[in-house]
Amino acid sequence: MEKILIVDDSTVQAAQLKSILDADYDITIAQTAEKGLSYASSEDYSLILLDVVMPGMDGFMLLKRLQEEIITRSIPVILITSLSDIENEQRGFTLGAVDYIAKPFHPIIVQARVNTHVKLYKYRKQVEQQSVTDQLTGIANRRQYERYSKSKWDEITRLHLPFSICMFDIDYFKVYNDTFGHPAGDKVITTVAGTLSANLQRATDFVARYGGEEFIAILVGDEAKDVFRHVKHIKQKIENLHIPHNPSVSKWVTVSAGGVTVVPKKDDQYHTYLKIADTMLYDAKRYGRNQVVWFGDDMKQWR
Ligand SMILES: [Mg+2]
Repeated sequence: MEKILIVDDSTVQAAQLKSILDADYDITIAQTAEKGLSYASSEDYSLILLDVVMPGMDGFMLLKRLQEEIITRSIPVILITSLSDIENEQRGFTLGAVDYIAKPFHPIIVQARVNTHVKLYKYRKQVEQQSVTDQLTGIANRRQYERYSKSKWDEITRLHLPFSICMFDIDYFKVYNDTFGHPAGDKVITTVAGTLSANLQRATDFVARYGGEEFIAILVGDEAKDVFRHVKHIKQKIENLHIPHNPSVSKWVTVSAGGVTVVPKKDDQYHTYLKIADTMLYDAKRYGRNQVVWFGDDMKQWR
């Protein structure tokens, strides 16, 4: 059931709205704008019904605050008011309200407007989700990676922190597909993606499907030796899944990984380091696969 937040200082009015919507939605009531703001930023609401006239912070002020916060910005807000004059409506729309409901309430109109905006919100969420997610594996897709890597690189350059790029590739994947068929190959890709993302779980860890059987991870804040150790650990975890491969090439499904850690300076280019990570991956393959090759901060190749 979708969750709706009602922010209204009048208990009677809030109860009235709740009774109109209770059958279809999970309703929370906040009696002050401050409480409304704190609920809105801690729970997932699909819609906010917001009273304009309240003591202290009023509906317009709260609406402005909701629009300023990244996590509450996208929640649709319907304003409730008896001031159904043009000027206030205009002000509400300017501040980002999606609709207006005037008192006294007509249950059918309230339900219709609420249903419409909740539906639109759900649809928009779904589209946003699909456009950044890889269909097969459910992890981030290439497009999301392009966006993320660029913004993260700029941020980390300003902060002078270590930035690691790591590329993974499933070993002898073509042989696997030829031996076991494409559906089985898809399963392997999904399993490897799941293992990667389960082991890259910090808020700043990022992993995406780069294409085919290739993945890319971006890790910030940790020193080269720690990232190198962590990636080796992940590589081992994948081997330990013991997914049988074609025995003529390998006993189990394994991955090769190549990466680099850099504290980027102002004129450094992301793609220069991406190229280094790619070269390390190439070397990991060349040295016999199922291993991690890192371009260390001593300018040496770590294996
Ligand atoms: Mg009021």
